Amino acid sequence: MFTNKDSFKQLFQENLISKLGKPMKEAQNEDIYKILSNMIREYVGKNWAQTNERYKENQEKQVYYFSMEFLIGRLLGNNLLNLDVLELVREGLQELGWDLEDIEEEEVDAGLGNGGLGRLAACFLDSLASLQYPGHGCGIRYKYGLFEQKIIDGNQVELPDFWLQKGNEWEVRRDDKKVEVRFWGNVEVIKKDGEFIFETRNYESVTAVPYDVPVIGYGGEHINTLRLWSAESTMDLTKLSRTHNYYNSLNYKRSVESISEFLYPDDTLYEGKLLRLKQQYFLCSAGLQSILRTFGKLGLTMDQLPTKVAIHINDTHPTLVIPELMRILIDEKEMTWEQAWEVTTRTVSYTNHTTLSEALEKWSVSMVRQLLPRIYMIIEEINTRFCGILMSEYPEQPEIIPQMSIIDGQQLKMANLAIVGSYSVNGVAALHTEILIKREMKLFYDLYPNRFNNKTNGITHRRWLLHANPALAKLISDAIGTRWIDHPQEMLGIMKYSEDSGFQDRTRAIKQHNKMKIASYVLEKQGIIIDPYSIFDVHVKRLHGYKRQLMNILHIMHLYNEMKANPSLDRIPRTFIFGAKAAPSYSLAKRVIKLIHVVADQVNRDKDVNEKLKVVFLENYSVSLAEKIIPSADVSEQISTASKEASGTGNMKFMMNGALTLGTLDGANVEMHNMIGEDNMFLFGLQSDEILHYYQYGGYVAEDVYRNDPRVREVLEQLVKPSDFCHHGHVFDDLFHSIMSTNDEYFVLKDFASYADAHLRVDLSYRNTKEWQQKSIMNIAHSGKFSSDCTITKYATEIWRLQRKQAELHAK
Ligand SMILES: *Cc1c(COP(=O)(O)O)cnc(C)c1O
Repeated sequence: MFTNKDSFKQLFQENLISKLGKPMKEAQNEDIYKILSNMIREYVGKNWAQTNERYKENQEKQVYYFSMEFLIGRLLGNNLLNLDVLELVREGLQELGWDLEDIEEEEVDAGLGNGGLGRLAACFLDSLASLQYPGHGCGIRYKYGLFEQKIIDGNQVELPDFWLQKGNEWEVRRDDKKVEVRFWGNVEVIKKDGEFIFETRNYESVTAVPYDVPVIGYGGEHINTLRLWSAESTMDLTKLSRTHNYYNSLNYKRSVESISEFLYPDDTLYEGKLLRLKQQYFLCSAGLQSILRTFGKLGLTMDQLPTKVAIHINDTHPTLVIPELMRILIDEKEMTWEQAWEVTTRTVSYTNHTTLSEALEKWSVSMVRQLLPRIYMIIEEINTRFCGILMSEYPEQPEIIPQMSIIDGQQLKMANLAIVGSYSVNGVAALHTEILIKREMKLFYDLYPNRFNNKTNGITHRRWLLHANPALAKLISDAIGTRWIDHPQEMLGIMKYSEDSGFQDRTRAIKQHNKMKIASYVLEKQGIIIDPYSIFDVHVKRLHGYKRQLMNILHIMHLYNEMKANPSLDRIPRTFIFGAKAAPSYSLAKRVIKLIHVVADQVNRDKDVNEKLKVVFLENYSVSLAEKIIPSADVSEQISTASKEASGTGNMKFMMNGALTLGTLDGANVEMHNMIGEDNMFLFGLQSDEILHYYQYGGYVAEDVYRNDPRVREVLEQLVKPSDFCHHGHVFDDLFHSIMSTNDEYFVLKDFASYADAHLRVDLSYRNTKEWQQKSIMNIAHSGKFSSDCTITKYATEIWRLQRKQAELHAK
């Protein structure tokens, strides 16, 4: 359609004239965004259809990645990049008087996820398509994504994120692919030809309508599908008369549509809501029906399903695919239990994302039994048979059975169901997998050792480096050629320049430029002047106790105290930048946001310190904000309590953009450390085995640290007594007690001294520009290993056993 700048310009102008619907001089950025994205969507249509056609013809095995979250962010810039027309479009638009960066800002950030788990799903889709694997996403088209965060008077206020208000140029509604999902009702057992048949009666019917979004692989030829389901009522209200039934129907319609209305704004705390259970089953049932319809067209028998289909569940949220697949195979495809179980357990694989006990999903038995009666019967049967196996495996240890049982009293343990019903269970970083098999899931590991494996998370270097930091990407290509784009591990090639002063200067200049940009952004958005030559120390991620934003801000209070006491203290100017959303019901997390603002207010106003210390909280952390801020960071705060962060992916984005990690040996930080060593990051704090040991023996005595470390005592007292940070009635006694009364469950005080010491090492190292740049380059060079291309290659070969048609990727 367009292959060079001139043909692009011509086509774009034709579209502008035919689609704008108003005089050209009245065209706004918003109009340009719509027309451009629409044009791109149409442009990929042909390759999209061809990709699907090819899958069908070759009968290729396909993977379906089921996830309640897809944090995809904006698509325009990335799609242009993957189509390899980004520069051409940028220049073309510029000649027509438009700035592509401004146009990109017009796109709403699709926030159909909370944090790492949802972003991982989005990075995986990009890698699947770019590596030309047959792999699709299956999710929910929430009408409202994750809330928009506003800060009012230092407090988080949540606004609804009505991201679809102006339409979504990337999606295609597929009425021809809709399916029916059933809730409630009662199961009747009928005897037919000597066989028992299960039929659900009096159910409530919901229509699931898919909206397809093209997932454009790098190179633009290979296009997979993200299928997002929307819930609609089966009833046509326009055909009803305004009788008393009308309002009942209206209620019904409302209740059905609520299924795909909201994303639950919580990624670690379990929400015991009926609606959330409905959402999960809705996704599983709709997704499965559509997969089986596609499979049905191949003309194979059902027992061949595992040779053509792999179903992956992103955490336990979509675990109901297991009993739902059993239901369809038994009730509709007339398989025996044994045949159906064989097919199911050869089709489904599962990723565990956390060992936090409060995040392990448990559903009330009575709720599941009422909402999904047939599904509950199947789960009960799975459990009965599983407990039978346990009894014969461990005849002498009956105490094991309640620990491993799927149904435990009035609770249904989804992780247990997921393990029993799948052929692969993976953790998301080496340390996390080790904790799973040695501790949390040890009993299951002993029973099924071959089922467990590790797949360390990754991020797409196309979005997080090529698109977010084009100058750095270009510098790498200028140095080692462009092969690294298809083979990210080859970024190692820049290691030989780590001591090259020319290369060091260029990476430094790029970082400086990115910092200048953020400084103007902060000035424009918050009216705060920050020093672009200070160290940018960035802590952005969801707000949670274990991620220890509280430790960071307490340490900043300590730095302030120190500078006030000793004004001539020689410290490199530092700008601390935070960004974090707190779950609306997580009140302590919201209090940390308030504390950050109170501290920022005090520090930024105080002339004694504000040349050396600034604190900024960026509102509404999201994918597009992450893309802006991460390339500007010098220091990446990855300070979770060791053993608590399963992997982290923020850590990888920073590393890839040349920030140095200040962190604990937790999650994927451990693997970063194995690659680049002690010298190229700033480690501190207790290690996971030490922390786990403390937990096992009831924690440590927080009171001791409070009493013995005067720095700790000073900042803690500033939370509760009138002080610089605690005036106008702002008393943070709740935060104080959250530490002292739980005996500091996240080891904030215990790790404080070590954390403060690591900050001093950062300061010292930054003074030596050459040394710092060298470390930065070492980080960038080793980050290719954390590309999700590497991760997906492992999933595809070791778990899903997919074939890739083209052996050599778009040879460039
Ligand atoms: C990468 C990312 C995360 C995950 O960050 P962690 O530091 O790994 O918790 C969360 N939110 C957004 C918007 C991200 O891009």
